[in-house]
Amino acid sequence: MMQQYDLYVDGQARVAATGERFESFDPFRGKPWALLGRGGPDDVNAAVDAAHRAFHDPAWRGINATGRGRLLSQLGDLIAENAERLGRIETRDNGKLLAEMLAQVRYIPQWFYYYAGLADKIEGSVIPVDKPKMFTFTQHEPLGVVAMITPWNSPLLLAAWKMAPALAAGNTIVWKPSEFASVSALEFVTLVERAGFPPGVVNVVTGFGPEVGETLVTHPKVAKIAFTGGERSGQRVYELAARGLKRVTLELGGKSPNIVFADANLDNAVKGVISGIFAASGQTCIAGSRLLVQRSIHNEFVDRVVTFAATARMGDPSDLATQVGPVTTRPQYERVLDFIESAKREGARCLLGGGPATRPECGEGWFVEPTIFGDVTPAMRIAREEVFGPVLAVLPFDDDDDAVRIGCDIPYGLAAGVWTENIGRALSMAKRLEAGTVWVNTYRAVSYMVPFGGYKRSGIGRESGQDMIHEYLQTKSVWIDTESEVPNPFVMR
Ligand code: NAD
Repeated sequence: MMQQYDLYVDGQARVAATGERFESFDPFRGKPWALLGRGGPDDVNAAVDAAHRAFHDPAWRGINATGRGRLLSQLGDLIAENAERLGRIETRDNGKLLAEMLAQVRYIPQWFYYYAGLADKIEGSVIPVDKPKMFTFTQHEPLGVVAMITPWNSPLLLAAWKMAPALAAGNTIVWKPSEFASVSALEFVTLVERAGFPPGVVNVVTGFGPEVGETLVTHPKVAKIAFTGGERSGQRVYELAARGLKRVTLELGGKSPNIVFADANLDNAVKGVISGIFAASGQTCIAGSRLLVQRSIHNEFVDRVVTFAATARMGDPSDLATQVGPVTTRPQYERVLDFIESAKREGARCLLGGGPATRPECGEGWFVEPTIFGDVTPAMRIAREEVFGPVLAVLPFDDDDDAVRIGCDIPYGLAAGVWTENIGRALSMAKRLEAGTVWVNTYRAVSYMVPFGGYKRSGIGRESGQDMIHEYLQTKSVWIDTESEVPNPFVMR
């Protein structure tokens, strides 16, 4: 029997208005394992109405900032208690390694604790305005209903990045998780209720992008869209949101360079390169999918990366010893294989892998062999487009200028890695690379305290850190005239 899930609206389970359901697949077994409600416009309307009512209801509006912080802390505690269960659900649903999903879910409470602490420290200011009879101050207010749209690769982590600050700021939420990995969202939302948030503050509508996502983005009562996903859907969301002049934050894809200089600690650099591309089967927006190696060490270093990657253990993602799991969705699996074929056609040299994984331990799952291409030129598709799979493109460079030129010669700018023992070079590269995050002698590090987001086509706005709470607030300026008499009404004050 497959587990069945309904939508979650106004504090209750809701059967989708059409009565339809769709299947959620287990990528390791290549078989469906859960049935989800197929939400549509009626469900979105009901969820937004519930969130809008909750936004104005004293049951939520009347809780002061310290109280909101307390609720967020309680939710953080509940997530910590349920982390093992939620992590296992995510692995079942998206096929990523249990070791990775457990680490992610165990880290999520920190976002709730951090923004719990920030909730009652959102302060306006008194402005010593240039008009002496005026008393002028600012206050920061929530926006209203926030639509959260999230992808399948890190379902709860990426939701937490949005939900914790949005709630700390006093907003309410309608969340559309990915159609490929929604089960953890529906389990998670029951914790929101248990933490004591009033009904309607967080709602979940499962379903597909065009049906649920677009209705949500264009709904007149939605004030802001916080989106993480692919570039094409991000563009569509941005266009639709523009019609309603809505606020938007977009976390999109990347084609991040991992740059290894001859003066690097090469043992560490090999591990950093591997973790950047193969750890999550390449299914991470920050994948270091372009390896740039200084020419003087190119052949030796690439040999070492190939040798290391060839030892990766593939198989059941819920086995903690597995190092590379399946690709999450069937269309994505086919897309990755198509990229591999196009790289071969364009003349890249396949140094490792280069096709589907048929090892017995991969069973019926959608596995792609860890793949490394040499002789890649910056113009090839494999060097320019996001693969979102375990495929690494290797490009040589001569010096710092060359590394910056090749590193930045793409439309994206999410992240970059630099491997060097020279601090001056590290700082100079950090300054020159066009990316929202630059890691030096490390890769794939994130924290609730550190802003994250993209340059160029990798996104708009930031998540995490103190300042980004303002992505969920608007500023009101209040003027009080202390003069007893209104002067000439025909002249601007
Ligand atoms: P996707 O764009 O296909 O889907 C993301 C979400 O958007 C899903 O919930 C989907 O249903 C919804 N959606 C799709 N079309 C829509 C539309 N027209 N209107 C409204 N919503 C719509 O992305 P995905 O395949 O789930 O995730 C992979 C992508 O996400 C990759 O490109 C990856 O780089 C990106 N990503 C970015 C970050 C980041 O923080 N920058 C993090 C993780 C993933």
